[in-house]
Amino acid sequence: MTRLLDVKDLKAGYGPVQVLHGIDFHVDDGETVVILGANGAGKTTTLRAICGMIDTSGSVNLEGGELVGSDAADVVRLGVAHVPQGRGTFPELTVEDNLDVGAYTRKDNEVAADKEKWFETYPVLYERRTQTAGSLSGGEQQMLAVARALMARPRLLLLDEPSLGLAPIIVSDLFERFANLNDDGTTLLIVEQNARLALGIADRGYVLESGEISAQGPADQLLNDDSIRKAYLGV
Ligand code: ATP
Repeated sequence: MTRLLDVKDLKAGYGPVQVLHGIDFHVDDGETVVILGANGAGKTTTLRAICGMIDTSGSVNLEGGELVGSDAADVVRLGVAHVPQGRGTFPELTVEDNLDVGAYTRKDNEVAADKEKWFETYPVLYERRTQTAGSLSGGEQQMLAVARALMARPRLLLLDEPSLGLAPIIVSDLFERFANLNDDGTTLLIVEQNARLALGIADRGYVLESGEISAQGPADQLLNDDSIRKAYLGV
């Protein structure tokens, strides 16, 4: 498999507070990879570091190109789209305008066609295209946040705790959609506290503890690991 993202000795934090203490992980083209971890382990910080949103050292290599040192807009242009925790849609803008914002880095003439494609994939967004994002339900907003990120035509989609604050039935539906996206060729890196669901659709996983990788392996191996079952699956 082709290596898409290769992260080496990644260190990041906020001013004097170092959160990531030199972590290594990778994502191959076509994979779904999950990073599990408790509150405060550094999951969000990892995605922010990849996206060029915070001061970072080490290496974040995307298909041979170095992302460390690039700003957030460059990272999107280079092929990484980010669905932040709490969705990050623009509540005052309509659904359709949110999708247009997602394409702001593109200069090709297939933006309208892509919008149609995501409206077909997520019909509820088409039904609500003239409504403001803020008027959507939590699950619909998450769908919009994902579709908006996909409008950038990313090589890699980063999802930050997509299950947060959503009812279990909505979350199951969302994760099924993520699995479908991956089947259709989008590579996914998901950080999640809901280990069972995330490992259920992932190829491989990493466990982040206090800013260090404490375990890694194929998803089914992690699902059957006693210490992971105790710590993250409530078994
Ligand atoms: P959560 O599930 O709570 O989001 P997480 O694994 O995503 O957890 P991070 O959000 O990456 O964890 O936070 C890691 C550590 O960094 C925590 O101790 C947190 O308090 C600290 N932190 C996060 N954001 C900031 C910030 N803007 N300034 C200072 N410290 C921060």
